[in-house]
Amino acid sequence: MQKKNIAILGSTGSIGTQALEVIRQHPDKFKVEILTARSNADLLIEQAKLFSPTMIVITDKNQAEKVKIALSNTNIKIYSDENSLAEIVKSDTIDIVLTALVGYAGLLPTLNALEAKKTIALANKETLVVAGELVMNLAKKNNCHILPVDSEHSAIFQCLVGENYQQIEKIILTASGGPFRGKKTQDLIHITKTQALKHPNWSMGAKITIDSASLMNKGLEVIEAKWLFGMANDQIDVVVHPQSIVHSLVQFKDSSIKAQLGLPDMKLPIQYAFGFPDRLENNFERFNFLNYPQLTFESPDLTTFRNLSLAFEALKKGGNMPCILNAANEIAVDKFLHDKISFLGMSDLIENVMQKMTFIQNPTYNDYVKTDIETRKISENYGNK
Ligand code: NDP
Ligand code: MG
Repeated sequence: MQKKNIAILGSTGSIGTQALEVIRQHPDKFKVEILTARSNADLLIEQAKLFSPTMIVITDKNQAEKVKIALSNTNIKIYSDENSLAEIVKSDTIDIVLTALVGYAGLLPTLNALEAKKTIALANKETLVVAGELVMNLAKKNNCHILPVDSEHSAIFQCLVGENYQQIEKIILTASGGPFRGKKTQDLIHITKTQALKHPNWSMGAKITIDSASLMNKGLEVIEAKWLFGMANDQIDVVVHPQSIVHSLVQFKDSSIKAQLGLPDMKLPIQYAFGFPDRLENNFERFNFLNYPQLTFESPDLTTFRNLSLAFEALKKGGNMPCILNAANEIAVDKFLHDKISFLGMSDLIENVMQKMTFIQNPTYNDYVKTDIETRKISENYGNK
């Protein structure tokens, strides 16, 4: 395998740091070419010193000076505005762009990277939720791979190697159920952010951890799966599997089901995307069936976890509705994390904003940009007299 040059967008986050761990274990196969962060200057400086990238971006201008001073005795080029994040992905020297930043901010860099014919290792699911059709069409036109990093989608992708996509009957996404599995609406009235930030199986960034607790994460993943694998809406099922060992499944036309299993560790899907189509040796802990005598499965509770049914509604409606869902959810999560609304209040906000926003059946890129801005404005004002 030829050595691959990698750009990590969001290197200081949960996925970003695990990606660097993977690269550190395979210095002969991968080189860090670009690192980017929003405001965590200290960690970005530490990573830059350790991995010697050619370029770095820190989008928070207030942190730029600190980074420049700390790295003044290196040859690393340092950029510090959001425009450079979107532009840097076009650099000739990059082979793979890992999109590990959070939310809508991932869309433009991904589109630009596809314009420049880069392979995308996609962690940022929001990109496909907001503008899945646009992104997949561009990837197809430019003959680019979009390799999933999300564990469920990586599982499905691995199950589909060597298969004909026309012979898929349906895909089944597994969900851990989050910290509040089994709870009912009245149990969730006084949930605090500390409780919601404790995921039973995965350690992740704050936004996706809240999304996992509310099951919005699974809703976003259903929309992500639709575009990644070209499925009709009724070809995607969700099943709750609290142990997070079966990472997802594909059912074929002959009734056969393939699944991908393993311990919950994001380093595996990250490594698979970087190494694809090769499987690379590693020292990750191996799964032992005898430690898990029971793998269990149950239906998701759509009445208690309204965010999941709102995501299904947005999926069914199509157009710019998933973009509206995403922007409203980003604001709702932010408000919840700042104690401005309750856990259940997040669904009220999203539902209300979905009803208020103007629906567009066939949005262009500019429609998505406008929809995102407008939805954020209405969501910010939600609840104000
Ligand atoms: P984190 O919050 O841990 O990290 C986000 C990273 O992106 C940080 O480096 C952060 O910089 C940077 N960043 C955040 N917002 C912006 C912005 N607006 N502009 C530029 N940079 C930004 O997130 P995760 O690693 O948990 O998640 C990243 C993505 O991967 C999400 O889309 C998530 O849904 C997806 N994902 C994550 C999984 C996980 O296990 N964590 C699993 C599957 C998918 P700084 O540190 O300076 O703030
Ligand atoms: Mg996932």
